[in-house]
Amino acid sequence: MKILSVTSECVPLVKTGGLADVAGALPEALAAQGVQMRTLIPAYAGLIGKLGKTKTLWKGTLFGGAATIKAGKVGAIEILALDAPHLFDRAGGPYLDLSGKDHADNPQRFAALCRAAVEIAKGGLSDGWQPDLIHAHDWQGALAPVYLKAEGVEIPSVLTIHNIAFQGIAPKALLDALSLPRAMWEDGTLEYWDQINTLKAGIICADKVTTVSPNYAVELQRERFGMGLHGVINGRADGVRGILNGIDDAVWDPAHDPAIIPYSVKTPRGKAKNRAALTAEFGLTDTGGPLAIVVSRLTDQKGLDLLPDVLPAFAEAGGMMAILGTGDPVIEARLRQAAERLKGRVAIKIGYDEALSHRMFAGADAVVIPSRFEPCGLTQLYGLRYGAVPVVSATGGLADTVIPASPAALGAGVATGVMMMGETDGLALHTALCDLIRLHADAPIFSRLRKNGMQADFGWARSAATYAALYEEILR
Ligand code: ADP
Repeated sequence: MKILSVTSECVPLVKTGGLADVAGALPEALAAQGVQMRTLIPAYAGLIGKLGKTKTLWKGTLFGGAATIKAGKVGAIEILALDAPHLFDRAGGPYLDLSGKDHADNPQRFAALCRAAVEIAKGGLSDGWQPDLIHAHDWQGALAPVYLKAEGVEIPSVLTIHNIAFQGIAPKALLDALSLPRAMWEDGTLEYWDQINTLKAGIICADKVTTVSPNYAVELQRERFGMGLHGVINGRADGVRGILNGIDDAVWDPAHDPAIIPYSVKTPRGKAKNRAALTAEFGLTDTGGPLAIVVSRLTDQKGLDLLPDVLPAFAEAGGMMAILGTGDPVIEARLRQAAERLKGRVAIKIGYDEALSHRMFAGADAVVIPSRFEPCGLTQLYGLRYGAVPVVSATGGLADTVIPASPAALGAGVATGVMMMGETDGLALHTALCDLIRLHADAPIFSRLRKNGMQADFGWARSAATYAALYEEILR
């Protein structure tokens, strides 16, 4: 099977969140299933330089400028880079300019990515490679199924929703500019409150829609989580399939991680050394209590607005917390103030730092993730693998991957983490952190929790097999 993955991010080329990890890990995991995946991604500034030798396989114009598709490789991933300098070669991130605002032409930029996908689907590459199926990710890839349908191209498509909060809304006036058919506006495929909603249209046009955990697949059908699209999702007779994300267990392996002092379940001694190093790096004074971390976008979605108010009691009870993240300036400021007030117990680094994140998981006793919604979540999986016990809200993929330390699970010896009960609010987070303190004080129980998590399998093999089976089912 030949699959074209259409994505706006892919590790190790460009990453703002979990989508990049998934897009980067899936091709190799699928190769083991006999699936050949090529990954189409915009050639943002500097991206081509990371591909080594490239070969131009397509030339054309897209949205008012010259565009080429260049084939290259990064590690084992076969990349097709859409080089359209007028759209992608500029300062800033993939979605935001240097001032933190959306690039004004984002609708055109990602429509161009999807147009390129259709050219490839039609057999436009000069090396003759043509996919059997297109796998598009999030709103940035969502117009691929729409263009395929509009043009009657008989290549099936899968759309994966990594986060329904981002829907690619564009003004109606762009319909013609984006080469979208009026008929699809009139029949409601594209229209959402008198604007174009690219994710909605993708959900309607794709042959299958998936999301990144079974629990989120159910949540998406509810008003509370569907972000206005629950009705559209419920309108699909075959619903949404939840396929859990994995982690790249070669990159996230405490026994072979070059960023840390190695350790494993069998040779656990390194863990304490990493903990001591992390305590020192963040200027914390070891209380003997649990050292918790946060590695996250600092946003309301992640529930991190709840953290400043619960930190004093946590620190008072002997807890320590090291925070790494960027995001909402108000949350950043409140966390900085908390760290200032609770010096020695709480510390924060504002920024994005992959290597530091590895040192943090290696040194931590716990990772705190009080998300209001969480399609899958990767940091709880890194926490499990690194023996940093996850403290999570009971939502989305968090609820699918963490076995809470209930009396029943503790009795059966299978618990792997702590889960907030009921609403995701300050009281639930405070209670969960009190549970963490209590569990941590009981060395045999905490060591059991840690080991259970480290032995759990969240590699890609199982999920890749599920994706391969889904592709087969569609192509049959
Ligand atoms: P989301 O995609 O919603 O941000 P995920 O948990 O799915 O959440 O993925 C987030 C990814 O980004 C993880 O790999 C996490 O380790 C990483 N990450 C988030 N913030 C930072 C940061 N400040 N520094 C390093 N890595 C980060």
